[in-house]
Amino acid sequence: MKVMKFGGTSVGSPSRMKEVTNLVVSYNEPVFVVLSAMSGTTNSLVEISDYLYKKNPEGANEVINKLENKYMAHINELYETKEWQDRIRSFLKEEFNFIRTFTKELFTSFEEKVIVAQGEIISTNMVANYMKEKGFNVKLISALDFMRTDKNGEPDLAYIKKNLSIILEKECDGQVYITQGFICRNAYDEIDNLQRGGSDYTASLIGAAICADEIQIWTDIDGMHNNDPRIVEGTEPVHQLHFEEAAELAYFGAKILHPTCIQPAKYAGIPVRLLNTMAPEAEGTTISNMTEYGKIKAVAAKDNITAIKVKSSRMLLATGFLRKVFEIFESYQTPIDMVCTSEVGVSMSIDNSSHLTEIVDELKKYGTVTVDTNMCIICVVGDLDWSNVGFETIAAEAMKNIPVRMISYGGSNYNISFLIREEDKKRALQSLSKTLFGK
Ligand code: ADP
Ligand code: ASP
Ligand code: MG
Repeated sequence: MKVMKFGGTSVGSPSRMKEVTNLVVSYNEPVFVVLSAMSGTTNSLVEISDYLYKKNPEGANEVINKLENKYMAHINELYETKEWQDRIRSFLKEEFNFIRTFTKELFTSFEEKVIVAQGEIISTNMVANYMKEKGFNVKLISALDFMRTDKNGEPDLAYIKKNLSIILEKECDGQVYITQGFICRNAYDEIDNLQRGGSDYTASLIGAAICADEIQIWTDIDGMHNNDPRIVEGTEPVHQLHFEEAAELAYFGAKILHPTCIQPAKYAGIPVRLLNTMAPEAEGTTISNMTEYGKIKAVAAKDNITAIKVKSSRMLLATGFLRKVFEIFESYQTPIDMVCTSEVGVSMSIDNSSHLTEIVDELKKYGTVTVDTNMCIICVVGDLDWSNVGFETIAAEAMKNIPVRMISYGGSNYNISFLIREEDKKRALQSLSKTLFGK
């Protein structure tokens, strides 16, 4: 079976929902469809929650009313018969009244997660019912019945596999199976989610759980581009990526993919295809175990990075110095992205600076500490095995007019990373496009 995930813009209007239906039913075999909320909805639900945290129910109600009106306006365009229009109208009324109940209660992160989950619950209901009205055999499966995280907040693949197979055995005659992306239950059975953009992750977890033959991520662009299309002009799709290359790009800022979504597909050996709902015939990107030798594929950038340098002549060549430094980051659950060492010190980069003050305080025991904020990691991805001579020189050549704080190469066979100031990001990405891809 194929898994097909459609993002927010792909289900962003009644006409887009109809397009999705055409794509889904064009297969002559059952497909498993994962849907995001309609574009903008999750942001509105987060905004409602913000008002409720701030004890401002009027503000929340204003956003709820606006959102409800927007949805109600889609009904006549999407459904043909009065029977289905009425059915969906009462479903939406119930949904928005449910959201309104939270304006009267104590509001915590538990309630927020329930509110934020409604976007995907609404979109899947709308699309599944549209398909039903058109006569297709559709099974709407609640992600809350099988998608689950464990005590560490990591997906519990064994649970997901077991419960999904029980559901699919019961509902074995479906033509289209539809479920919500993003939402799940946690180890305490509470409604939770897989973080913003997490519908991609849902799709690849389902793919791994059902041993799908392909995971398709349908979005608003024709695959992974060789640079960030929001920043650089003339970017082009990359048709083939290795799992590791895609994972590096997603982790280092290529928004088209959720950072962790490649992992389950990679372990299960299932190819992932990135496709464009607006241009379904475009080739897109295929992510698999295949490496294209000797090729630099793409560049991505990750903002909000903080660089920390610990300099210590006392610690020169001392064993255990790096361990002590890294343990401080570990004790504050702060992952380190880049590391560069010299005889007199070590530089590290982090993207979660919520414990920066405490970390710096503790690091001061071991040396002089310098912090640079508003930094950016530029990541060049491709077949960068060290035996391929010259690639690091070409990448460094593109950065010749940019002040570079750190360089990391050799951590994997697939990337070179540069740490620069955020304000130099655009210039760096443009220069890399010119040097690497001639654009
Ligand atoms: P969806 O809502 O379908 O999940 P996203 O907005 O999460 O879509 O991801 C698609 C967007 O990712 C594109 O519209 C594009 O602006 C952005 N993007 C950033 N970097 C890249 C890249 N390297 N290649 C393609 N798209 C990228
Ligand atoms: N709707 C969620 C979000 O906007 C999840 C997703 O679209 O992947 O983040
Ligand atoms: Mg996305």
